[in-house]
Amino acid sequence: MAEYMSTRDVKRLEEGSKATVRGWVYRWRDLGKRVFIVVRDSEGILQLVASKGFTPEDVIEKARRASIESSIIAEGVVRRDRRAPGGVELRLTNLEIVGHAEDFPIKGGEGIDYLLDIRHLWIRSRKLTAMWRLRHKAFEIFREFFKKRGYWEVSPPMLTQAAVEGGATLFEVNFFGKKAYLTQSAQFYLEALIFSLERVWTLAPSFRAERSRTRRHLYEYWHLEAEAAWERMDGMMRLVEDLVAYTVGRLVETAHEELEVLGRNVEALEPSRKTPYPRITYEEAINILKRKGVKVEYGDDLGADEERILTEEFETPFFITHFPLELKSFYMKEDPQRPGHALAFDLLAPEGVGEIVGGSEREDNYEVLRKRIEERGYNVDDYQWYLDLRRYGSVPHSGFGLGVERFLMWVGGRDHIRDTIPFPRFRDRIYP
Ligand code: ATP
Ligand code: MG
Repeated sequence: MAEYMSTRDVKRLEEGSKATVRGWVYRWRDLGKRVFIVVRDSEGILQLVASKGFTPEDVIEKARRASIESSIIAEGVVRRDRRAPGGVELRLTNLEIVGHAEDFPIKGGEGIDYLLDIRHLWIRSRKLTAMWRLRHKAFEIFREFFKKRGYWEVSPPMLTQAAVEGGATLFEVNFFGKKAYLTQSAQFYLEALIFSLERVWTLAPSFRAERSRTRRHLYEYWHLEAEAAWERMDGMMRLVEDLVAYTVGRLVETAHEELEVLGRNVEALEPSRKTPYPRITYEEAINILKRKGVKVEYGDDLGADEERILTEEFETPFFITHFPLELKSFYMKEDPQRPGHALAFDLLAPEGVGEIVGGSEREDNYEVLRKRIEERGYNVDDYQWYLDLRRYGSVPHSGFGLGVERFLMWVGGRDHIRDTIPFPRFRDRIYP
């Protein structure tokens, strides 16, 4: 039995070498004397040629019947040819059709609703495959980064009792007759865990019942979160910019093929490999927007449109800090230097993407936090365990959450978030 090679490895072989590959028929062309098949596997594509005089007749016949998306095993001899994709083709000596494909329902030019209905087939496309690879590499780099920084990876629950980011976007679950919710953020659990491990991180799904449909919100997304004891807002911002710059840099170095298939202008990412990133306050953001003719007032929340306009001012990610307290979550600490403002930061990605990270220093005083919960009209009983963390050896601490799909939208140059996750959940569509 021949040893199988990936389409990538075949391209490294010398002219005349024998090779066996397996994959799926990506393109197919019958020119009479010659049949061209482009086969794809997880590593890329490779041209196969069945030609009269070289390839046995029965193999040419099989090549003629190899429909788009049929799975095949192909044996042949390497030939260097500049016209072939990647400069190499395999002249067929044998071909096995393992699984014949019926008429494949994706031919190009289909509408988005149709394609989402057959997402389980659409995920094979070259661009989407490149995204799954980019995603995998990003996950690897995140893990590498936190390991280097001495952070512990932890596993918080997905089923929870209380809201982290407000009740409006909670998904309710019937938990043996009691109400529970799908987690919106692991933050509270990470806060509990810093009393044991000091510096923790996790990469897990978060669920948000967003009220409006946008191109940057999912109902289920992957959330990279970290929390550190003793860390103030400034140190946490430095960690975030280091994480983003490191990940972008490593992806540019190790995922150039994926970025090329995605059509990403990699040059545009270069400046983002260097830190520090620019910092502006919320107030400065409002002033920039006013100067640019946007109708906003101090105290307004910054939506996607405002964020997009702000990104025109920067070619790297940038921080917005010191939001008015009431715009932000109850657990964020008030800046003693600027009363009424939260020690909070958002990191916005350039090129129109907007917020990819939200973080803050957390309120660590029991009385202050309890008062905040009451002022917001939340039920203090629901937060008792969270308040306990401020009763037994409280410590200054800070943390953040990064939306993995938002990050991939930016790095991968996608303009809709659905292109960054294999099976996006939508309001009217939990299939496939
Ligand atoms: P937005 O204002 O864009 O809804 P948020 O302020 O609700 O974001 P946070 O609660 O700070 O977001 O969550 C941390 C990060 O998680 C965000 O910076 C973003 O990258 C990501 N995120 C939040 N909600 C979603 C969502 N519905 N889909 C995908 N990513 C999300
Ligand atoms: Mg939100």
